[in-house]
Amino acid sequence: MFYTIIAILVFQFLVETVLDYLNAKHYGDPIPQDLEDVFDPEEYQKSQTYQKTNYRFGLLSSLFSIVLTVAFLTLGGFEWTDQIARNFSGNEIVVTLIFFGIITVGSDILSTPFSYYQTFFIEARFGFNKSTKKLFFTDKLKGWLMMAILGGGVITLAQWFYLWAGPNFWLYVWGLVTAIILFMNLFYSKLIVPLFNKQTPLEQGSLKSKIEAYAAKVGFELQHIFVIDGSKRSTKANAYFSGFGQEKRVTLYDTLIKDLEEEEIVAVLAHEVGHYKRKHIIFNLTASVLVLGFTLFILSLFINNPEVSKAIGVSQPSFHAALIGFGILYSPISGLTSLVMNFLSRKFEYQADDYAKNTFAAMPLITSLKKLSKNSLSNLTPHPAYVFMHYSHPPLIQRIKNLMN
Ligand SMILES: [Zn+2]
Repeated sequence: MFYTIIAILVFQFLVETVLDYLNAKHYGDPIPQDLEDVFDPEEYQKSQTYQKTNYRFGLLSSLFSIVLTVAFLTLGGFEWTDQIARNFSGNEIVVTLIFFGIITVGSDILSTPFSYYQTFFIEARFGFNKSTKKLFFTDKLKGWLMMAILGGGVITLAQWFYLWAGPNFWLYVWGLVTAIILFMNLFYSKLIVPLFNKQTPLEQGSLKSKIEAYAAKVGFELQHIFVIDGSKRSTKANAYFSGFGQEKRVTLYDTLIKDLEEEEIVAVLAHEVGHYKRKHIIFNLTASVLVLGFTLFILSLFINNPEVSKAIGVSQPSFHAALIGFGILYSPISGLTSLVMNFLSRKFEYQADDYAKNTFAAMPLITSLKKLSKNSLSNLTPHPAYVFMHYSHPPLIQRIKNLMN
């Protein structure tokens, strides 16, 4: 089992490295004909340098991570962490919390120099970064706090269900996490986003009138349009849709409003409305709840197997050790699920694009996609295998071809 775990980790690392390499071989390809107006030659050079810099940096950080993980496993890191946690308390739930606390905070501290470098050296060098050091670290602290409350709460309840309901615990955990997912979908923008960003209702004016006119035309009830201060961290632009029923809202980054014409913003919005109208949001929610239930059911078959704990080198079988062992052993299957979800997501993107084309217009969506790609220096020639594995959106050239059809 121990060697299976090492083999899975190394195999995943190799697959990712090969994919990155294949993708990198396409940097410097000529720009596809329909995209020639995205970059001028100088900007194209800049985008290529950006891709290559990220590629090299990604290679370095994933190498660091695999070496560290394998070393931690081989040198008995989990056993050692387990001992520390057990020295603090005899209560199984407390032991679990300390164990996961050490692992999470430890790995986060080790990865912080990488994200720091990414933000303040790479993103800054290409003019994307707007974040300050203070903001970077307060974000981190808030993230930890949120994880401690939410993650800690779920783990505590999950183990409590396990101690109380035995093998049926997975049903209760499924119910709990489903409730959290639904709650988060409804109130994410109201409760979580304000911890990190300021959101203000879109002010009256021609943009709002255009959006409202479009929403009325397609019979989409939209009371909440918010502008978020994304510019305090990055110049990259975005827009997203959240919630459903009375809680549904559209959030536009201030950077999107700055970069795009009003017609283009309405087109982006029409795409988001398309996701809603074609029921992609409900589908994704249902799918993630079903996948979660399946995963928890499989977990319930293995959680009592002492071999799963021993697989990560922990001598005294426990809930927390089995959870980590299972997490790694199951990761090839969860990798497959995410592959299927990415595949469906790319299909949905075409459907949402079609919706925007049919109910609004194709041209402003095409120009907005081009502008967004240009402003984020995105890769115009990704390798098909890389797209297949990682892209939740089709590459720009394919979306434009579809829109022009
Ligand atoms: Zn979309």
